[in-house]
Amino acid sequence: MNEILALRRPGAANAPFSAPVLDDDESIRLQTLEAYEILDSEEEKSYGDIARLAAFICGTQTALISFFDRDRQWIKARFSNSAFAEKAQSLPRSHAFCDLTIAQPDPIIVVADMQQDPRFSGATNITAPAKLRFYAAVPLISPAGAVLGSLSVLDKRTRTLSPEQASALETLARQIMELLDMRRTVIGLSAANARLGQQSITDALTGIPNRRAYDQKLNEEVSRARRTGAPLSLLMVDIDLFKQYNDTFGHLAGDSALQSVARVLLASLRPYDFLARYGGEEFVIVLPATDLSDAILVAERVRALVANSEFPHRKFTISIGVARLDVEAGLKAMVQTADNGLYRAKASGRNKVVVGNLEKILAAE
Ligand code: GH3
Ligand code: MG
Ligand code: MG
Repeated sequence: MNEILALRRPGAANAPFSAPVLDDDESIRLQTLEAYEILDSEEEKSYGDIARLAAFICGTQTALISFFDRDRQWIKARFSNSAFAEKAQSLPRSHAFCDLTIAQPDPIIVVADMQQDPRFSGATNITAPAKLRFYAAVPLISPAGAVLGSLSVLDKRTRTLSPEQASALETLARQIMELLDMRRTVIGLSAANARLGQQSITDALTGIPNRRAYDQKLNEEVSRARRTGAPLSLLMVDIDLFKQYNDTFGHLAGDSALQSVARVLLASLRPYDFLARYGGEEFVIVLPATDLSDAILVAERVRALVANSEFPHRKFTISIGVARLDVEAGLKAMVQTADNGLYRAKASGRNKVVVGNLEKILAAE
């Protein structure tokens, strides 16, 4: 027999559970609970230690730290020295004390003998040996006043708590709230960290990865190519005569043209290709598992797509330098080779795709 299921409210014994319609207070309470991300969390020693201390200080067989979800009482930590201790992690809320605690969050509830207590006199179908008599609980209340759960102690013998024990139980409940608040701070900090991390690798104007993300990606891809022997190619893209556009239509128009070009480039790529803004009106495209001949095809496709797209005020063309990773020559030589291709594309009239000359780069070293 389940110890907690024995804690039935009068009249609730055989009533089928139906989800209550949530009032505003209950939805705020659930939202607050959600923010702690405690429900269904891993076992944590600090909570287990508090449950153990609570049972030890109050001299009871069992102590529980529970949180009250919408329709269940979820047990975060349990200490029990009873051989018949219930091991369920989650119990229907309609059968537990939760509603009583939520409705009437006294600093502490002490029920010396449930069978004699008018609030539970209907709960007499408690079968031995899990027969529960004594129950005491301190609600866990958020700083804004939401009842999130309880720290409770239970026993099969009737008994009561001394003022010192009651006060110690309240102190332990405050310690649980401290743990919870620390948990929420950590959650907030890691979310902020993740946002900052994302911002630091994203170009603010175009929303695509920035130079820092590109450096990281290129390093990773070069290592992967070395490890697996797969090819790796790089395209260096530069918008043609962009200064003229800026000078003619203004810097803001230039900004929005840059955004449009980034969108077109992004749309033209395969999911595993990587586009970043290198700086100014220059972009880079990392092409994993792509040999030189395929890289040239990709570059041609991208160049033609931009040339055929409509932009505000006037058309754009781009020039592209292409390089394939030579494992011996390494990353830096690949970047210089792509740059060399871009330079030659510009020199030979723009709106072109040119493969850089690796030999020339190596000879110059
Ligand atoms: P080329 O075909 O030789 O590349 O000519 P270009 O005019 O594109 O090259 P140049 O390097 O002379 O000029 C690049 C211009 O890009 C200069 C600068 O005003 C503009 N530019 C760079 N970054 C931004 C930006 O963030 N916003 C705007 N609006 N313009 C930018
Ligand atoms: Mg440029
Ligand atoms: Mg340019």
